[in-house]
Amino acid sequence: MSSESKVLLPEKDLPEAWFNIIPRLPRPPAPPLDPRTGEPVKPEALLRIFPRALIEQEMSSEPWIEIPEEVRAVYRLWRPTPLRRARNLEKALKTPARIYYKDESVSPPGSHKPNTAVAQAYYNRKEGIRRLATETGAGQWGSSLAFACQLFGLECTVYMVRVSYQQKPYRRTLMHIWGAEVYPSPTDRTEAGRRILSENPETTGSLGIAISEAVEDAATHEDTNYALGSVLNHVLLHQTVIGLETQRQLALLGEKPDILIACVGGGSNFGGFTFPFIGEILEGRLSAEVIAVEPTSCPTLTKGVYRYDYGDTAGLTPLLLMHTLGHTFEPPGIHAGGLRYHGDAPLVCQLVEEGIVKPRAYPQNPCFEAAVLFARTEGVIPAPETSHAIRAAIDEALRCRETGEEKVIVFNFSGHGHFDLAAYDDYLEGKLEDYEYPEEKIREALAKLPKFPTGI
Ligand SMILES: *Cc1c(COP(=O)(O)O)cnc(C)c1O
Repeated sequence: MSSESKVLLPEKDLPEAWFNIIPRLPRPPAPPLDPRTGEPVKPEALLRIFPRALIEQEMSSEPWIEIPEEVRAVYRLWRPTPLRRARNLEKALKTPARIYYKDESVSPPGSHKPNTAVAQAYYNRKEGIRRLATETGAGQWGSSLAFACQLFGLECTVYMVRVSYQQKPYRRTLMHIWGAEVYPSPTDRTEAGRRILSENPETTGSLGIAISEAVEDAATHEDTNYALGSVLNHVLLHQTVIGLETQRQLALLGEKPDILIACVGGGSNFGGFTFPFIGEILEGRLSAEVIAVEPTSCPTLTKGVYRYDYGDTAGLTPLLLMHTLGHTFEPPGIHAGGLRYHGDAPLVCQLVEEGIVKPRAYPQNPCFEAAVLFARTEGVIPAPETSHAIRAAIDEALRCRETGEEKVIVFNFSGHGHFDLAAYDDYLEGKLEDYEYPEEKIREALAKLPKFPTGI
């Protein structure tokens, strides 16, 4: 045990390769299926919207994938990120546990998302693409991709869900500062958008519609590709810099984690943080609990079914084998917008099925309570998504207080909440609603699952 309150790695310890969990899994992942044929998707079919390098990474069985020097050069703007010990929080909880958190909030956009945005912009640029199109809800992914495109000289078009465009102007401003064009979706720039607008001109938009617009934009322009901020294997791969650095930092402290925790929206910060450790667990070198935390209002891992489903609401993407609440499920409007996804990364779901990852769900009020305690002890204001991981870390630390166990709890601090202060206002004024399991809505959505194979 060490008395350090933070561990900063030197730049030379920035990882040189991403960690690929695929070849280390007990069983190979189930392939994405073409919804028209039920056959595995051919890589060539994806070339219209993704660069070849990312399609290869999506299916790669190489145990390590080298990080290009150009990508590492951009990572060095904020990486390696600190591993911090939450000593004041430990004191406030009177716990014998030691609580550490990996601080991904220090990136320019304020979250883990640029770890993949930078890599995706690099490979697209290298393959001659001039522009990237994407969707964004609250703006965390859009601002990360805008930042990455700016650094690699790419244009960036962001379809931002109309209601967020109007209600969350500051992330839109970030995107403008980093040179992106941002449109409130639905727009009249795409077939999909025009159709929705003609049916319902007053629509507030949805992530599903915004995805349809971004994919159509990419598919209909030769020089334009599409970029996705979570769920897919290559996105989780890029995020493994988080876990790789954390392994080194814990080793410097002489610590071994007993409990690893991260929140799950599409699974990218969770996968990036835990996969290198899960590699050790699979090889029998580490014994640790791995906890995935989601909201009770969108309980994908805890209450979803393990089935092939569409990745998007509109039903345009290949089918993925994952825990799903049904692609038509619209979760209640909680503040942790980044956790409102009907499915989850297939790799994370597979590890839940294997029993290696334990999922858990919380309502939003106890999460905000945890976030405020964290802000009052450690200073940093967490993103509403991150507050779910903090709630679980606090509960585990309180359990240690009862048993007297000196466990090492490590969680991923996926982002700060500086653009989410309105959500904190609502919480402090007692205006936040807790949504329990929306059983009826989920049953309806599950009835609309595509009729495709149910297992591996
Ligand atoms: C987007 C986001 C998430 C959820 O996305 P994952 O892909 O599950 O990581 C969590 N935390 C923050 C701060 C985010 O911006």
